[in-house]
Amino acid sequence: MADMAEFPYDRIWDMVIIGGGCAGLGCAIYASRNQFETLVLEKKFVGGTLALTYEVENYPGFFNPPISGMELTQKFEEHARYFGTKFHYAEAIKLENDGPYRLVHTNEGKVLRARTVTIAIGTEVNKLPAKNHDKFYGKGISYCATCDAPFFKDKRVIVVGGGESAFEEAYYLTRFAREVYLVHRRQQFRASPIAVERLRSAPNVEFILDTVVTEIHGNEQVEAVTLKNVKTKEERHFPTDGVFVFIGHHPRTEWLEGYLELERGYIKVNYQQETSVPGVYAAGDICLGAEKQAVISAGHGATAAIKARNYVDGINWPDRVGKEAAVPRQG
Ligand code: NDP
Repeated sequence: MADMAEFPYDRIWDMVIIGGGCAGLGCAIYASRNQFETLVLEKKFVGGTLALTYEVENYPGFFNPPISGMELTQKFEEHARYFGTKFHYAEAIKLENDGPYRLVHTNEGKVLRARTVTIAIGTEVNKLPAKNHDKFYGKGISYCATCDAPFFKDKRVIVVGGGESAFEEAYYLTRFAREVYLVHRRQQFRASPIAVERLRSAPNVEFILDTVVTEIHGNEQVEAVTLKNVKTKEERHFPTDGVFVFIGHHPRTEWLEGYLELERGYIKVNYQQETSVPGVYAAGDICLGAEKQAVISAGHGATAAIKARNYVDGINWPDRVGKEAAVPRQG
């Protein structure tokens, strides 16, 4: 592809963005439009969690009809490529400093050299803590309704969780499945009232509250679960064809320990998205205290890019001494 980075390891990038989700792409648009040579490093697929959301109705400008998460992130990606952002598929495994440069080690055994880095790695989904989970993962257990709902047409499914994701994804499933049961461990929901009411109004939904899934049963595929009422401790066998899990997320920053300041695994940033290491920024869900919203993540990314521009301009870069710009700009 023309906009994949050629020889990404043989040059100095103005900015390497680790993670190609909403925050990373928001950063890439601003950085590359600011004449930064910008590389997005992505380990799986561009778009991140937002790409798996079936409908986004709270991103400014897109509301009637709501835009799919996939389409929205494709627009972000096109936008970044339009201004010259390059992409490379590999996983960042270590960060270190070399004088004013920041080095990003990848799982290809190579090192990217950058003036600035933005960490926009998002968070990972929590796995359902139920017996036999791993045996049935991908065989009736799913973490993405947008991806898997069509496989459950006219079937009976449960959705686990009480947050915005559980409600939005359960609502999407009501269009495919015959019956949708929302299983949540308490009576109160974290989801917004609008999402709760919308799901409640669907004719094929039932809520099962104060309840957790303790075990998955089946032969080749999921056939049933054990539901346990957390108040009465009563257990029951509940037949179902599918288990959709939306029970939150956790940070994966072990590889950054000792390099920058973390709290409970999240990256500490100031309001300019600066981390404890100069020239290294963080954006999106991985930031301590971040509101996990697409518009906020994109805004974090934009802030990081703007601050990085000021930072780069304030340093005498060894590769630019006596030259206007040692690294040729790409068209
Ligand atoms: P949340 O962390 O908001 O919710 C997780 C849910 O899972 C909670 O109801 C929690 O229960 C439950 N849970 C956690 N652990 C377990 C467990 N071991 N067993 C059973 N249940 C469990 O995660 P979401 O993914 O829903 O949302 C994350 C963020 O993304 C939120 O800020 C949300 O607002 C945002 N979001 C925004 C969207 C939008 O604006 N369109 C769409 C989707 C998400 P309990 O409440 O008891 O802790």
